[in-house]
Amino acid sequence: MTGAFGSYLTLVASVLLLALVFYPFELLAPAEKHQTLGKRLFNLAYIPFFLAVAVLILQPIANSIAVLVFAVTVGGALPRLIAQPASPAHQVVFALAYAVWWDLWQYWLHRLQHRVPWLWETHRFHHSETALNSSTQGRHHLLHHVLTFLFYLPVLVVTGWYTPHYLAVFVMFRLWGFVNHANIRVRLGVATPLFSGPQWHRIHHSTLAEHQDKNFATFFPFIDMLFGTYYRPRRNEFPPTGLRDAEHSAPLREATVGPFVAWYRNTPVRRFRFAKWIGG
Ligand SMILES: [Zn+2]
Ligand SMILES: [Zn+2]
Repeated sequence: MTGAFGSYLTLVASVLLLALVFYPFELLAPAEKHQTLGKRLFNLAYIPFFLAVAVLILQPIANSIAVLVFAVTVGGALPRLIAQPASPAHQVVFALAYAVWWDLWQYWLHRLQHRVPWLWETHRFHHSETALNSSTQGRHHLLHHVLTFLFYLPVLVVTGWYTPHYLAVFVMFRLWGFVNHANIRVRLGVATPLFSGPQWHRIHHSTLAEHQDKNFATFFPFIDMLFGTYYRPRRNEFPPTGLRDAEHSAPLREATVGPFVAWYRNTPVRRFRFAKWIGG
């Protein structure tokens, strides 16, 4: 427990430190000016709570399932086919291949979350951010993480216990979320199709009709090109963000019971009762 608690504290500290590092840049060159500080503070206060559940409760369960998967698949497909990448050059190639494979998987899960109504409820809280900023990267409902882990099992079966070097893992899964969501007026120019950045991901969070269901990838926009959902932002295109239906309930409710209430409201039993009540 001490080990898990130590990892939790390190994780929280690194996330808060990164938030602190990004903040001055967001003040210097904001994509959206005059953002309310309270919205950022809400995310920063929420993150330690959701990480506590994610790291101290969900992670040990996920680890036990992963051990079971490795036992059944004899360590996964990749470790049986190739040796562990050893040299720095091999590690870079492996990290890039892993990132593309991970992003392809993430792309389809993310599209499903936008397409299937009951999956959308696990992602809605993330999109309810009306002042997109670097702290939004931690604004995910816990159900989003449960869903991610369940869908991650095919990735585990392929990669087994192989993971990229810890520096690559840090860039991919810690730093890049801050980059993607930063409220910074920066354009990637000719590199736009190659790597996702704040302007490109801002389009995904946009409230404008022409931006709906675009730019799903986390790292590589060319994946969106491949499947017809790529939108290249124009030079000064930094749209407003949030939910299109403008149905912004209280953020605390969205972060906790929101998905469960929505699921309940849409169950056949509930619809039947409602129809009876209105005499339908
Ligand atoms: Zn989304
Ligand atoms: Zn996002």
